[in-house]
Amino acid sequence: MEYKKIILRKGKEESLLRFHPWVFSGAIASIDEGVEEGDLVSVIAHDGRHIGNGHFQIGSIAVRILAWGDKEIDEDFYFDRLLAAYSVRKSLHLLRDDNNAFRLVHGEGDFLPGLVVDIYGSTAVLQAHSPGMHFARQAIANALTRLPDGLVKNVYYKSETTLPYKAQLDAENGYIIGAYDTNVATENGLRFHVDWLKGQKTGFFVDQRENRALLERFARGRKVLNMFCYTGGFSFYAMRGGAELVHSVDSSEKAIQLTVSNVELNFGDDPRHKAFAEDAFKYLAHTGNNDYDLIILDPPAFAKHKSALKNALIGYRKLNARAFEKIAPGGILFTFSCSQAVSKEQFRLAVFSAAAQSRRKVRILHQLTQPADHPINIYHPEGEYLKGLVLYVE
Ligand code: SAH
Repeated sequence: MEYKKIILRKGKEESLLRFHPWVFSGAIASIDEGVEEGDLVSVIAHDGRHIGNGHFQIGSIAVRILAWGDKEIDEDFYFDRLLAAYSVRKSLHLLRDDNNAFRLVHGEGDFLPGLVVDIYGSTAVLQAHSPGMHFARQAIANALTRLPDGLVKNVYYKSETTLPYKAQLDAENGYIIGAYDTNVATENGLRFHVDWLKGQKTGFFVDQRENRALLERFARGRKVLNMFCYTGGFSFYAMRGGAELVHSVDSSEKAIQLTVSNVELNFGDDPRHKAFAEDAFKYLAHTGNNDYDLIILDPPAFAKHKSALKNALIGYRKLNARAFEKIAPGGILFTFSCSQAVSKEQFRLAVFSAAAQSRRKVRILHQLTQPADHPINIYHPEGEYLKGLVLYVE
């Protein structure tokens, strides 16, 4: 291949030979002249062995390897990877009459570092997390429309907030193939307006699908508080599961509007549901001790980087402590962390401290994680991010 070369320092190919797909800047001995951010490069070991080809980026992760060995990275390459990703989703039975929202590409977990693609009906929302994927967006979009079953008709590019700020790519959100289509997607028979134009992430959190389905089974006759509700996902499952009442809370007014319109879409004007735009800690401060016997805590990532870890753990402890103080006896708490920098053990320890502080008897019923359409490449454990606990509080 005629890609420019990055030569590694002696011995620095070891983690790559174990298929970990990142080259850190400290591992590099030399870079060919003229290599620019987002370029495709060939990574060469000190002894001249060709390790792989990937996207170059300025920063601590300098190269994200796309292919081991010397393979051309073009539209056909992306098509093959997308097809492989799609066949996994097909085997998971995520494309059904009652379900057309799922993650098609989960970065390293689908051997496409820096790329996320979520499917909502016939629209794919494409999100680049690296300059290389930004430059490849049109090739990827073309490849998406070549997938079988007419899966993708429209491709919406949504990377304004996910690309490294310093790269100054000025990525604009918008359709790069097709145009606006219905934005109502279906998950396990429940319907959602997906706001890919303005919403967070790709417009919806597909990663909680299985955990919402589990919640539905706990909901009958319960008084539910869905804290950090965003588009209201957990709320509808609770309602369909026969909850006595469901209160949805989010500090964002826009999120509350989305939740209310989604409840209407599924249940009409159902008096069991109420939504409040308020800060979580403020809301919990004025909640009564027996108001709720099923509480969901699904906050945003408290630690976006390792440097924020300590404060994040304090945040999780405090938040969970409030829930343990307030939940009614016999209550069920669904508590989550989506911070990649926080490990499963650290999160559990934070929840343990909160439980101990409240002096309630607490048992773990379920240990939750991300669903199968967010796979973890076994050689890239950093891909594991979502963890949750279902607790029984006496
Ligand atoms: N549970 C949701 C996803 C939650 S995303 C789902 O299943 O789709 C996190 C949400 O927390 C966002 O909607 C954000 O607006 C909200 N949020 C952030 N800080 C908050 C705070 N201090 N109090 C209440 N909500 C907050």
